[in-house]
Amino acid sequence: MSTEDIKTTPETEEVRESRNFIEMAIDKDLAEGVYDHVHTRFPPEPNGYLHIGHAKSILLNSGLAKEYGGTFNLRFDDTNPTKEKSEFVDSIIEDVTWLGADYGDTIYYASDYFEQMYEIAVKIIRKGHAYVSDLTAEEMREYRGTLTEPGKNDPNRERSVEENLDLFRRMREGEFADGEKTLRAKIDMASSNINMRDPILYRVAHLSHQHTGDQWCIYPMYDFAHPIEDGIEGITHSICTLEFEDHRPLYDWVVKEAEFEVPPRQIEFAKLYLNNVVTGKRYIKKLVEQNIVDGWDDPRLVSISGLRRRGFTPGSIKKFVDMAGISKSQSTNDYAALEYCIREDLKPACSRMLAVLDPIKLVIDNYEEGGTATHKTEDGTPYEYLEAPNNLENPDLGSRQVVFSKELYIEREDFMEEPPKKYYRLFPGNEVRLMYAYFVKCTSFEKDENGNITVVHCTYDPETKSGSGFEGRKVKGTIHWVSAADAGKVKVRLYENIIDEEKGVYNEEDGSLNLNPNSLTVCDAYVESALMNVKAFDRFQFVRNGFFCVDYKDSKQGAPVFNRIVSLKSSFKVK
Ligand code: ATP
Ligand code: MG
Repeated sequence: MSTEDIKTTPETEEVRESRNFIEMAIDKDLAEGVYDHVHTRFPPEPNGYLHIGHAKSILLNSGLAKEYGGTFNLRFDDTNPTKEKSEFVDSIIEDVTWLGADYGDTIYYASDYFEQMYEIAVKIIRKGHAYVSDLTAEEMREYRGTLTEPGKNDPNRERSVEENLDLFRRMREGEFADGEKTLRAKIDMASSNINMRDPILYRVAHLSHQHTGDQWCIYPMYDFAHPIEDGIEGITHSICTLEFEDHRPLYDWVVKEAEFEVPPRQIEFAKLYLNNVVTGKRYIKKLVEQNIVDGWDDPRLVSISGLRRRGFTPGSIKKFVDMAGISKSQSTNDYAALEYCIREDLKPACSRMLAVLDPIKLVIDNYEEGGTATHKTEDGTPYEYLEAPNNLENPDLGSRQVVFSKELYIEREDFMEEPPKKYYRLFPGNEVRLMYAYFVKCTSFEKDENGNITVVHCTYDPETKSGSGFEGRKVKGTIHWVSAADAGKVKVRLYENIIDEEKGVYNEEDGSLNLNPNSLTVCDAYVESALMNVKAFDRFQFVRNGFFCVDYKDSKQGAPVFNRIVSLKSSFKVK
C-alpha cells in the first residue's frame, strides 16, 4: 500500500483492501491477458499426515481459486513409490475436505500421467535436449561441480538421438538395474544454478507403486514431473514454497520443452512456521512408533487431524493463516496466535457449562428441606433447580436448568486454609458467590490423616439467590461448582506443548526432541449432568477452565472424554 492509500478517508472513498503479492501477480496476469482464468492446485506427496503449514497452502490455493472464480485441484504428487502409502491418501483427503477447500468432484493423481510424462521425455530426446547417461550416482556428483566451480560434461552427452531413444525405451522395458542408467536434460553444465546442470529427469527403480503397481520400473524426478502435472491439468499459477525458487528456471525449461498450450507459472511464498512446535514427519513418526503420542492425530500435535481432534475449527485455522499473511520472507508465528483464533471462534459459539476438574466436596450445612430446596433425591438429599444462561454474549443459546443441592463439588484451589493476601475465594469465615446460585460462607473443614482437605463446610443465605436483585452486601469472589447429587464423573485431558519450551525443539547434542514430561494431565472431573450426553466433537466452555471438545476416539456413550482445546487466559496481543 502506498501512503496515498492509507490517507484516504473511509467516508469519502472505500479503503482499498490490501492485496498480497500473489494476488497482485495474478491481477497483472489477468490484466495483461497472460491467462483468462485462474487454476490452482494443492499437490501433497502422500508420505505423511498434513500439518498446519500444509493448511496454509491448501487455504491459499483454494482461496485464490474461489476469489477469482477459478478452479482448485487436489492432486497427489505420487511419483516416488518409496515412501508413499494409501493410509496417507485417505487422511489427506479427509483433512482437505474438513478445511472446506472445494476441489470439485475429481481427485488427481500424478501417477496417472506416467505415460504422458514418458512421451514428453521422448519428445525432448527427439529435439536433442535430453540424453541417457551411464554415470553412477557417485560419478554424477563428481561431474556436477560446486557452487564456485562449473561442472564437467557427461561422457554420454553427445549420444545420438537414435541411441538415446533406444536406450530410454530399454530403460522402460526393464533391461537395466537400478542406478545403471538415467535420463538427463541437456542444459548447461556450467550454469551458475546447479539445478540447471543437466538435471536427471528419469531414474531406473524396480519398485512397486501404490497406484500403478508393477507397470513402471522408471520413475520421473520431481522437477521434471511437477511442471508436467501442472501443464496437463491446465494449472495457471503453480504456487509453492520458497525452497523451489532456485528450481524455477528448470520448471520453466520443462514447461517450454513440453510445449503446453497454456504454460503454467510458478510463484513461491514463505512457509508457515510455528515457534517451539514440531512438524517434521520423521520426528512425529518416531513419537507415534514409540507410543509417546496417541497416533498422528494426538491432540498435542499440530497435524491437521490432531488439531481437529483437539477441537480446533476450520474457521480458526483459516483466521490464523490469514493473520500470518502471505509473504516472500521467512518468519515464524507463535502458537499463542492460533489459540487466540480458536478462542475468538468459540467464545460466542459454545455453551458455558459447569465442570470441576480437581474436586473437593463442599457441604452446605443449613441447606435443608423446607428452605429453598424443592425436591429430594431417593436417598433424601434436598435439591432445587436453578436457571443458568448458556452464554451471556450470545442470548440465542438460551439457558438451562442446573441442579443445586446440599452437597457440591468445588475446585480444590478455590479453598485455602490459610489464604495469602488478595485471595478472595473460600477460606474459613469468608463468603463467596456460587455461580448462578447463592452466597456461601465457609464455617469449617475436614482433613484426612495426610493433612489433605477432604470436605469444606459452609452455610448459605437463601436471600442471595442469583438474579434476585439482592443488594444487602457484596462478595469479592465467585466460584463454580457442580451438584454431587447430579454430577457425572468423566476424564478430562489438559495439554501443554509436547516440546519443552525452555530447551527448544531439538536437543543440540543428538538432534532428538526435547520433550515436556508434563504435556498431558488426565483429571477425574465432575461435570453437570447435561455434559454426560454429548457426541464426538461437541465443544463447550467449562467456566473458568477453558474450552473443551469431546474426544472422538476415547469417548463412549454415557462416558465422554473431554480434551482441553485452550484455556481462557491469553498472553497474545493482536498487532
Ligand atoms: P516433504 O519433506 O515430504 O516434501 P512437505 O511438507 O513439503 O514434505 P508436500 O507433500 O511436498 O510435503 O507438500 C505439499 C504442499 O504443501 C507443497 O506445495 C508445499 O510447498 C506445501 N507446504 C509444505 N509445508 C508447508 C509450510 N510449512 N507452509 C506452507 N506450505 C507448506
Ligand atoms: Mg515436498
